[in-house]
Amino acid sequence: MTEKMLIGIDIGGTTTKIALLTNDGAMIEKCAIRTPNKDSGFFLSVTVPEAVKNLCGHHQMTKEHVAGIGVGAPGPVHQETGMFYEITNLDWPDHYPVKEILEKSIGLPVRINNDANCAALGEMWKGAGMGARDLLCITIGTGIGGGVIVHGSIVHGIRGAAGEIGHITSVLTNGAPCNCGKKGCLETVSSATGIVRLAEERIHQDRDPGKRLTSLLAENGSLTAKDVFSLAGIGDETALDVVNEAARYLGIALANIANTLNPEIIIVGGGVSKAGDVLLHPVKSTFAKYIFPASAGATEIKLAALGNDAGVIGAAWMVRTK
Ligand SMILES: [Zn+2]
Repeated sequence: MTEKMLIGIDIGGTTTKIALLTNDGAMIEKCAIRTPNKDSGFFLSVTVPEAVKNLCGHHQMTKEHVAGIGVGAPGPVHQETGMFYEITNLDWPDHYPVKEILEKSIGLPVRINNDANCAALGEMWKGAGMGARDLLCITIGTGIGGGVIVHGSIVHGIRGAAGEIGHITSVLTNGAPCNCGKKGCLETVSSATGIVRLAEERIHQDRDPGKRLTSLLAENGSLTAKDVFSLAGIGDETALDVVNEAARYLGIALANIANTLNPEIIIVGGGVSKAGDVLLHPVKSTFAKYIFPASAGATEIKLAALGNDAGVIGAAWMVRTK
C-alpha cells in the first residue's frame, strides 16, 4: 500500500485554505473557501467535509487514502481536548471542540493547533527553517503571531498561549491600546496596523502649526503599511523614521526571546515581511545590539519562504506518518 496523503486546513478570519499533500509535504492541490463569521457548525459539519471530499476526488482518492487532517486557527488551543479556547476575529463559540466536530463529520483523525504555530511547523518542514530544530517564527500582518519550536516540537504552554510574541509589552508609557486589552504591546507598534498608526501620528505632528509638512506620507490619503515601506525604500525621512521605530521594537523583542531560547533561526513571515531588507536590516542591527554577547552571531534572522502556504503545510505536518 502506498503512503497515505495528508490534509492541511488553515482557518483564517476571512478565508479557509484546504490542501492535499503527500506524506513528504509536497502540495498536490489546494483550495480556498470563505470562512463564515457565524454558523460555524454548518461550516465544519458540511462545507469543510465537502471541500475535503472534492479535493480527494480530483485525484481519484477517498478518505481511505488520507492519514489525517491537521487544522490551524487563530486562537489558543487546549491540546488534550482539541478545543479552541477562543477563535480570534470570528464570532464562533468559545471552548469550541473543532477537533471533535471534524472527526465526526469527516471520519478521519484530526489534530489542531494555533495558526502561528502551524506556520512555524510549515517553515521548519518545508520552508526557511528546513533542517533546524530550534527556531522561532514570527508572523507579522494585521496582528503579530509567533510559534516557538524547541527540539523540533512546538511549545504550547499551560494554556496553549506560548509564542504570543505580539503581546510582549514594548511601549512602557502611554502605549496604544491593543486588541488583547493591554496597552503598548509589540503588535501596537510593529504590525501593519501599528506601522500605519505610527505613521499617522507623525503626520499629525507634522501638521501642527509651525511645523512643515516634510513627508510624502502626508500626501497619501489612506495609508497602508506597504505605502510606508515603499516611501522608506526611496528615502522618505518620515517613513524611514517610522520603519526604524517599528523595527527597533521588533529587534528588541526578538533579542529578548533569543536571550531566553537561543534559537538557531528566527523566521520573519506574514504580509509585512514582504518589505524585505527595508525592515530586516534595522531589525538585525537592533537585534545585534541587544543579544547576549556570548550568543552573538549564533541566531540567523531570515525571511519566511512559504508565504500563505505555511499554515496548511504545518497543519498537515501534524498528521504525517513518521
Ligand atoms: Zn496585546
